[in-house]
Amino acid sequence: MVPWLGVEEAEAVAETIASGWIAQGPRVARFEREFAAAVAATDAVATSSCTTALHLALVVAGIGPGDDVVVPSLSFIATTSAIRYVGARPVFADVDAESGNVSAATVASVLTAATRAVIAVDQGGVPVDLDAIRAVTDPRGIVVIEDAACAAGSTYRGRPVGARAEVAAWSFHPRKLLTTGEGGMLTTRHEAWAARARRLREHGMSVSAADRHRTVLAPPEEYGEVGFNYRMTDLQAAVGLVQLTRLGALIARRRALAARYQEAIARMPWLRAVADPEYGAGNYQSFWIEILEESPLDRDGYLVALAESGISARRGIMAAHRQPPYRALAPEGSLPVTERLTDRTLILPLFHTLDERDQDRVIAVLRYPGGEGA
Ligand SMILES: *Cc1c(COP(=O)(O)O)cnc(C)c1O
Repeated sequence: MVPWLGVEEAEAVAETIASGWIAQGPRVARFEREFAAAVAATDAVATSSCTTALHLALVVAGIGPGDDVVVPSLSFIATTSAIRYVGARPVFADVDAESGNVSAATVASVLTAATRAVIAVDQGGVPVDLDAIRAVTDPRGIVVIEDAACAAGSTYRGRPVGARAEVAAWSFHPRKLLTTGEGGMLTTRHEAWAARARRLREHGMSVSAADRHRTVLAPPEEYGEVGFNYRMTDLQAAVGLVQLTRLGALIARRRALAARYQEAIARMPWLRAVADPEYGAGNYQSFWIEILEESPLDRDGYLVALAESGISARRGIMAAHRQPPYRALAPEGSLPVTERLTDRTLILPLFHTLDERDQDRVIAVLRYPGGEGA
């Protein structure tokens, strides 16, 4: 991944510095409004990262000690760690082999009497089948939190992902499409949840610091509950506002490059490429391929072959249940699809400024990993 940044972002940061207001303030408020509009959300609360947005999502959804939260192991570790922050127990669900996402079936199979929430991830930007999962969870009063960290610009049943979620969390880390360096967003349909998240990200303060600084005689503030400092800065929001204007072009370019990869890989029957599910369209934040059994080379062999041609690829999505803090939750072998995908997938270079010639070099190595004629 290479972020797509231009002089416009640099100018926006320079203007913010010149304004004298660099911490959370008017630009964060504007970024929240414009981001909410871009993803068809009713309310948005900016945070310091997606990890902190996930933490707040769990808090405002009322999740705490004694609660079980269903989560895919096949995700960045922050998805699981947020559950631990509120003292709840992560319960790993396996994923669908096609999409790499949890499904109604994999979620249903791990529900317990203590399940209060599910974190459904749009992994690598592939939309998760939220309606099918909610058909299982809604009747039981289980909240679904959408981890849309990777999925800005992806669509689900014709609408932006996250638009139908009770609460969703987003990331602006440079590994995602839109970046603010570090940064995140919580979107929600519940006004009260948004209001509480807004206070919690700012130490539980009843009057925001920005509102107090705008006045000469500041109104007294109250700290109604234990909060956090999960604020985004106006410097970051200034970058985010420019990045938002690039989203359409980013999606178009990534989808075009993904289609070129898909077309080439369709002619290599020992490989399988990530694809859109029938109910949505991804932003191809991570363009992954699975190395099938019949391949002459295994996944790590491909990574080496690509590296020898000066091409940096990455192992597929990690599996949290193999990491020390979470090993005790699920023994090896208990999540067979997750384990297969994490062991047999790799993520190919895909970024806005990748040109077709460089992409063709990647494709050539996939076709002839030992070099042409080998
Ligand atoms: C990147 C990512 C996160 C964490 O995002 P940060 O903004 O870096 O905290 C969480 N979940 C998923 C699925 C991610 O890909």
